[in-house]
Amino acid sequence: MKLVFYLFFCFKKEIKLKKSFLNLKEIFVTITICSVGMFGCCLTPARAGLDEFIRQDVPYFNLAPVGGEAESDRSTSYIVQQGDTLISVAERFGLRTNVVANANNIKDKDFIEAGKVLLIPGTSQNHLIRPGETLTGIARDYGVSLNSLVLANNLNDDDVLIAGQELIVPLSENNVLPAWNYTAGLPVNELAWPVAGGWVSSGFGIRDDRPHEGVDIAAFEGDPIKAIRSGRVIFAGPRGTYGIAVIINHGSGLTSLYGHTSAVLVREGDFIKEGQIIAHVGSTGRSTGPHLHLEVRLNGIPYDPLLCLVKAYA
Ligand SMILES: [Zn+2]
Repeated sequence: MKLVFYLFFCFKKEIKLKKSFLNLKEIFVTITICSVGMFGCCLTPARAGLDEFIRQDVPYFNLAPVGGEAESDRSTSYIVQQGDTLISVAERFGLRTNVVANANNIKDKDFIEAGKVLLIPGTSQNHLIRPGETLTGIARDYGVSLNSLVLANNLNDDDVLIAGQELIVPLSENNVLPAWNYTAGLPVNELAWPVAGGWVSSGFGIRDDRPHEGVDIAAFEGDPIKAIRSGRVIFAGPRGTYGIAVIINHGSGLTSLYGHTSAVLVREGDFIKEGQIIAHVGSTGRSTGPHLHLEVRLNGIPYDPLLCLVKAYA
């Protein structure tokens, strides 16, 4: 009986405690709502009519998902070739010259060095509006026209710009192909493996801070090198750091280069069938051991040959 009474007492106490806890909770919630109500008005995002300065004095917050600012649409890189100009590179990707210049911090637009790696922005980019900006200023910063900015975002005269809002910045001209169309013809997993028994010793991409525009396939000195696809030989002979090299034009903008060979078996102008032996593995040019340096280019742009070669090593 004593125990029952004790339990009852505890139960009652607990209810009391729960009640007071609830009260505390209620008070806390009320205070929170009040404070949000009181200070919330100060958190109204900074806004302005189209092309007025967005006020600096009002705090702003992200209306759009975080991370939108740097999110570019299919940006890529391009290695400047001999004879390229900033205009020709921009045109190749369907971009305005200013867009490419801005993306790479190029001051002297009349001079770009061969071998320089350019960042090629995608055809559009998102821009997070900040206080103090205007539409004209944003257009100028990206090197695009005010009109294209208005059109791309469906803006009207009575619209307002809000800090934290995201704008689509169209970087390409409307009358040219978007950049990714240039990779549409890239043969993926289609080209024949060039050296039977060879193994990849160095991949495509940046190596020791320099672009490695192909893939290195190590093999034994004298191993036969086969054409990865049929085409016409457009170069055969010594080629600087490539050593004794062969370049084959496969048509449709596709070329392949075979470097560091010990000897070539073909001549410029020869038509070569896929799988035909064109040279022997060597270590000529800038090379530390017998291997084939293989490059695959589409419209002059180097792509990772491992993307293009058939996966089965044969
Ligand atoms: Zn190489």
